[in-house]
Amino acid sequence: MDYQAVLEEVAAYARPFVGRGHVADYIPALARVSPDRFGIAVADINGDVYGTGDWEIPYSVQSISKAFSLALVMAGSHGDDDIWQRVGREPSGTPFNSLVQLEWENGIPRNPFINAGALVVTDRLLTMTGDASTSMLEFLQTESGNPELAFDQAVAGSEADHGDRNAALAHFMASFGNLENPVPSVIEHYFWQCSIEMSCRDLAVAGGFLARHGLRADGSRLLEAREAKRINAVMLTCGTYDAAGEFAYRVGLPAKSGVGGGIVAVVPGRCTLCVWSPGLDARGNSVAGMAALDHFTTLTGWSIF
Ligand code: GLN
Repeated sequence: MDYQAVLEEVAAYARPFVGRGHVADYIPALARVSPDRFGIAVADINGDVYGTGDWEIPYSVQSISKAFSLALVMAGSHGDDDIWQRVGREPSGTPFNSLVQLEWENGIPRNPFINAGALVVTDRLLTMTGDASTSMLEFLQTESGNPELAFDQAVAGSEADHGDRNAALAHFMASFGNLENPVPSVIEHYFWQCSIEMSCRDLAVAGGFLARHGLRADGSRLLEAREAKRINAVMLTCGTYDAAGEFAYRVGLPAKSGVGGGIVAVVPGRCTLCVWSPGLDARGNSVAGMAALDHFTTLTGWSIF
């Protein structure tokens, strides 16, 4: 596969979609990003990486961090499936920050990729490591091979200043006994993990273990193959919020998106992709990013379907 040629063609296809949609502004610090950005990168399973456009510009990973926190919790649980007592693995069909299902379902979030579920996962990671956001940052630095990765303090602060809804989700779950740590610590670590800045290059390389059936960049094992399979399955069914059905229909790959405009997608056994363009559709997914991934699987025939 001539990845570079495919990426150039994908970028040309996506160009008319760049700037469409709306840059997230409910976290005010995210709104300073130019809507005209577009970048895409692919890391193959050998670690060779290709990219075009703004593929080396760092941006806020936001909810893409939820895939990594789940991976770290599963990796640290040594086969014990406890986390699935506290969070489900079904698509929610509701927006990523919705409160409504939680009351009906006794404080057990539908899946780990909506905010409520991610708060539970971060809570577990906090118990396991003592410092959830730093352990994630260190993992991402190592796995991406980029020691410069850092938190964006302005984004983390802005999110905390406007974090009433996430605080409400966390308090509500605490009232059902579904948090192990105090609400302020859980939401603080969640805000910090969302604020990590990475480029498409960094994210494609760091997500390589999902394409390598659980093997890290250095060849050591992070996850059992069946655990990597499960994360990819939950990404497919829940990774793009209440648009996961539409995403499977158009793209057909496990993926995790974030309101920073990034989407990480996995072709198991072949490569990990990351695309970024900040204009979001009404469900919080990058408009040009979805168009690009749609065209990528059309060109390559690599939809898992
Ligand atoms: N930090 C964001 C929030 O909690 C993440 C949301 C997202 O990327 N969908 O609202």
